[in-house]
Parts: sequence; C-alpha cells; structure tokens
Amino acid sequence: MTGITSLTDKDRIFTNLYGFQGADLKSSQARGDWDNTAGLMKIGQDEIIEVVKASGLRGRGGAGFPTGMKWSFMPKAPTAGRPNFLVINADESEPGSCKDREILRHDPHKLVEGALIAGFAMRARAGYIYVRGEFIVETEALRKAVAEAYDAGLLGKNAAGSGYDFDLFVHRGAGAYICGEETAMLESLEGKKGLPRLKPPFPAGAGLYGCPTTVNNVESIAVVPTILRRGAAWFASFGREKNEGTKLFQISGHVNCPCVVEEAMSIPFRELIDKHAGGIRGGWDNLLAVIPGGSSVPLVPAEQIMDAPMDFDGLKDLGSGLGTAAVIVMDKSTDIVRAISRISYFYKHESCGQCTPCREGTGWMWRTMERLREGDAQVSTIDKLYDVTKQIEGHTICALGDAAAWPIQGLIKHFRPELERRIAERQGDVREAAE
Ligand code: SF4
Repeated sequence: MTGITSLTDKDRIFTNLYGFQGADLKSSQARGDWDNTAGLMKIGQDEIIEVVKASGLRGRGGAGFPTGMKWSFMPKAPTAGRPNFLVINADESEPGSCKDREILRHDPHKLVEGALIAGFAMRARAGYIYVRGEFIVETEALRKAVAEAYDAGLLGKNAAGSGYDFDLFVHRGAGAYICGEETAMLESLEGKKGLPRLKPPFPAGAGLYGCPTTVNNVESIAVVPTILRRGAAWFASFGREKNEGTKLFQISGHVNCPCVVEEAMSIPFRELIDKHAGGIRGGWDNLLAVIPGGSSVPLVPAEQIMDAPMDFDGLKDLGSGLGTAAVIVMDKSTDIVRAISRISYFYKHESCGQCTPCREGTGWMWRTMERLREGDAQVSTIDKLYDVTKQIEGHTICALGDAAAWPIQGLIKHFRPELERRIAERQGDVREAAE
C-alpha cells in the first residue's frame, strides 16, 4: 500500500485519550475545546453540514453512513409540535469495542461541544446521550461535563453565547445490547422496552416521540468541533478516498500491548499492530485470524489481512467490515470454532425475540456451533448451518440477525477444513470405541 501515512501527534483529535490530563472544563479548554464555539456556529447551519460532508466523515458506530448526508435528511424548518432531536449513541456494547468509553471518561467535553454544534446544524433544540448501563464511571464523568457546561453558559439558553438555545440530557440505559440499535434506543428513551422498530419510517422522518431525529455515534459527534476548527480538507487528508479521516482503533486479543489508539484511516493492518500494539504475540507467523470490526463482522484469515488497509472499503473487499474498528486478534493458540461459538451465544442471549428467524435461529445456530465444536455432527450439518445463516441474514427487523449470522459465515468460509477435521476425528473416535 502506498500513500497512507500514519498519524502524528499534532494531528490527533483525542489528545486526552488515556486520561493523563483532567477531563474537567478548564483542562479541556486548555486542550482547545470550547474555543470560540459561537464563532464556529456563525458559519451557519447548512454550511456546517456542508463542511461535515466535505470532510468525508462516515459514521463511527459501525454502519459507516456519511454523517453530513445523514444530517441533511433532517427538516430545515421544524414545526412547533414536531421538533428535531439529536440522539447520541453511547451504548457501546459490541464485544471488542471500547473507544467511546475513553471519550466519555477522559474527553467528554469534545462530545458535549460536538453535541451543541451538531444539534445547531440540524435545528435540534435538545439532545440526548444514551449511555450504556454498565458505564457507571463514564456516566458520572459525562454528567459532570454537562453540568460544567451549563454552569459556564455553554449549554442551555444562548449556548456558548451563540444566540442558540440547546439542552443536553444524559440518560443511562439498563444494560441491554439491543438498545444500541438506533430505533430500540428511541423506544428505550421513551420509557418503553428496547425493541427495534420496523423501518421505514426512518428516525429522520419519525424518531423520538414520533419527531425527526438523528442518531449518531459518540466518536462521530466528538470529532466535529475539530473538523470545523481545522477544516474539512485537513480531516479528508487522512485515509483513502471515501474512507477519510482519523479513527479510534481498539486492539485486543493476542497482541503484546492491547490498546485504544487514534490513527489515520486506511493504515495497513501490519503497521497498526506493530506500531501501537507491540506486534502479534509469538510473531507474525503465529497469527491465525482477525475480527477487524467488533464481534459481528466476519473474521479474516491471517494471510489476507496482514497488508490490508484498515478502512470501510478495504475490509469490505475482504468480505468483512470495519464496524467500530474493534480489532480482535487471534493467534494460533485460539480454538477458532469455540471462539465463534461463544460469539453465537452472545447474540442468542441478546436477541430481543421479536422476529422468528432471529429468536429461533440464534439459539439453533449456537447449539449447532457447540456440536461442531465437539465434532458431533455430519459434514452436511455445515452446509445446513450455512443455509440457515443465509435465511436469517437480511430477513429480520434489525441488524442483530445479520450480526449473528456473519461470524458463522466467516468461519465456514475460511475454516471449513477445521470443522470437517473435528467431525472426522470424532467419527474416528466413535468407530474406535465401538471396535
Ligand atoms: Fe429483535 Fe433479533 Fe429481530 Fe433485532 S433481529 S428485532 S434483535 S429478534
């Protein structure tokens, strides 16, 4: 790969990612947050949306939808009875994903300032940050930041002296993974069970309380003030075309130094791991496979990912996805069938049960995976399992069905010989015992 340079310190947006400095307002202002926010807002609502579009920012919550375009779907002239709302998704629950929590606990003012600017651009007078139930410390840090912002006149009436009134509320969920799905989140915010809604209508048409709503990820919102300060061209100078910007990567598993790090999009996998995670445990020859975007995306075998660009399109080309950029590294000591079976159990456990393919299918897939783990199956079982994943994929109300199907599809695609080996071994054992 050529043309992709890794990020230098002067270009990092999240300069307190590791909490070496304070998360309070004064420390955040010393890092550049809330610097002439009213001046940034003066450029105008539609112009802010144009800057975000020009920056190439794509949603950081997993789907990768262009953020500026999403904002442009919101009504330009909200009526009194149907106000626009901004909802920020801080329900970070995908296994492997742990970037938003670092923003919430160490750099919350980036998010709060971003919420004001995004809310203003979308003509929202109120924003809600929905925080994962288990994030107790993070919620406290965020609530403190919001309270500080109110005390300093940065939120509320005439927020930051901009002449615009904007309120921001922090809501802690009860710990259900499915509330990270945007419409389930809206149901939960309304005080109901977090059950995903059928779409359409999409939230921009009928979202929170039936009003136009945009749901954005924490990182997507938190980078906006810096994009406005440094310019769309600066942000777009990182990464490949259509994959621009900087990104928080979360590297876990069998690396020497697991970490969360901000890097340029499209950085090659090998460089990302060597530079920030101290390399693969036991060396590069010991790498087995990588789940590059959180547990819901298909795994990629070692030989395919080593020099791949870590961005939306690069990983899509490999039949996987960038997701939240939660990079789970597995070396050759991994029981890959067991690992995927455990992921299947997670999705079975988190299914909300509304639609039959997901409710029944996730349990069936997990039980079948457990049998395959032991080799207690026929070779035809693998084909049947694959067929069932295809019947679930795309046939459910929300993407949890896909999330449960894709890891298994990835396993069958790349590790079918391992599944067959276990079946043959078990059948050999059974024959031997019988003789
Ligand atoms: Fe619920 Fe699963 Fe259907 Fe999503 S796909 S609505 S989690 S049953």
